[in-house]
Parts: sequence; C-alpha cells; structure tokens
Amino acid sequence: METIGKSVLEQDIFFVSKVFDEKFKWVLITAGIHAREHLSCDFACEILQKLKSQTNLKYNVAVIPLVNPDGADIAIHGVSKFNKSTTDNLLKINNNNSDFSLFKANANGVDLNNNFDANWKNKFTKNFAPSSQGFYGFLPMSEPETQALANFTKSKDVFLTLNYHLKGEEIYFDFFQNEKHYKRDQKIAKTFAKSTGYTIKSTQKTSSGGFKDWCVAKLGIPSLTIELGNDKFSHPFPKSELKNIMTKHENIFDDIAKSLEIFEEYKKTD
Ligand SMILES: [Zn+2]
Repeated sequence: METIGKSVLEQDIFFVSKVFDEKFKWVLITAGIHAREHLSCDFACEILQKLKSQTNLKYNVAVIPLVNPDGADIAIHGVSKFNKSTTDNLLKINNNNSDFSLFKANANGVDLNNNFDANWKNKFTKNFAPSSQGFYGFLPMSEPETQALANFTKSKDVFLTLNYHLKGEEIYFDFFQNEKHYKRDQKIAKTFAKSTGYTIKSTQKTSSGGFKDWCVAKLGIPSLTIELGNDKFSHPFPKSELKNIMTKHENIFDDIAKSLEIFEEYKKTD
C-alpha cells in the first residue's frame, strides 16, 4: 500500500497494487470519488480480498479504494470534528444544512468527477460555485485529488480503468471515441454487462469532466463507469446490500483478462 497524493484536508489517498510481472500492462480500479457513494470503497476492499487469492493474472492491478477521503469522511461523520473555519466553509457549501449524508463533492465543494480536463467547458450542471455536488471547479484539474489520480494513471501503462459509483446497475463507456476505439470499448463494456447483468447506457451527451471521460479522451484507453447497486434504494445506500452487490462481480478478474485480449486485438491494427 502506497499513496498517490493528498486530499484538500491533507489526508492520504491510498493505492494498493499487485504486480504479477513488471512487463505487464495495468488495470486501474477506482472507487469513492463521490463522497456519498462510499459503499463503493467497501466494494473495492472486497475486490482487494479477492485479489489476494489470484496467482496467475496476465496483468498488474492497482486499486484506489477511496479517491475522495475528505468527502467520504464528511458524508459519514459530518463536519463537527473539523476546525471552525473548515466547518463554517463546509456548512456554507452545503447550504447551511448540517446533514452531509448526501454530499458528493470534495472539501472545496468541487465535484471531482466533473473536474477532469475532458470537455470541461461544456458543463451539464447549473452549479457555478462550490456546492455539495455538480460544481466543476474554477479550473479543470484544480483539485489535488484530481491531479493525484491523473498523474498516477499517467505513470503506469494502463489498458483499462474501472470506476465504481452508486447507483443504478449501469455501465457507461462512451465519450466521443473514434469508430475503432468505440467498437473496442463497447465490446469491453459488453463483457462486464454480460457477467453483472448491468445495462449499458450512453452518457456522452450528458457527461463531461469525468475521470472516465478523461481516460477516453486524453489517454485513448477504455474506461468504464460502473454504477453499483439497485436503483430502488436511496442514498445513503444501505451497507447491508454489499453482499448482493458482490455476487454480481464474481467474474471481475476474468472480465479484465477478456478486456486485455480485446485491447491487444484492436492494438494490432493501429
Ligand atoms: Zn458517482
């Protein structure tokens, strides 16, 4: 376990990796970028448990279980433990509501999954100031969490990122890929849709500034946003559902292996 950087409130952002061969490509698994979706962090930790027993993978694995540690902290514990200026600022961001359980942003009130440099100017929310959700930031990549995740991703030979959110049992993969990459990424999305029973949905007309968007647009790699959990539940998502969620992701390492095959197959014709 190492760190990729620090959050606004100087908390470590951890990553755990398992290297099977220095020469292999990497899959990057992220969770907890949205504060209230912290159950995705528990999900990522369960995946890490499964990773322990994997002995022969043809790719290396990096997991960042909690991209937004401040946000999760705020959504779970509220803001009373912080100093007065931080508490006052967060209350202002949250419209003076002391219930933070639906908070999605980081400690600056920036929605980290809108802060990436991918059609950032083309905003799909109406929040133009720090907010509990949907504020893109004053500049693209302005947040330390965004920068840390981008730098880490660029530092490895990544062929796929899997980004876990809640909720809706959906998979998003498209972001203005060229035709060839679109087919490749769709094929990969279908692999995960088949084994989880989740639905593939197009979001490129309603999404910008996301980490998935940035991976696709800037790195040219496939990247999936995977919305865990049945839509019938409300946020904060019940922890008791984690068990049910896990049953749909038993094949994750096989699905990643298939994705690598698809990635390599398409690369041959580059
Ligand atoms: Zn989310």
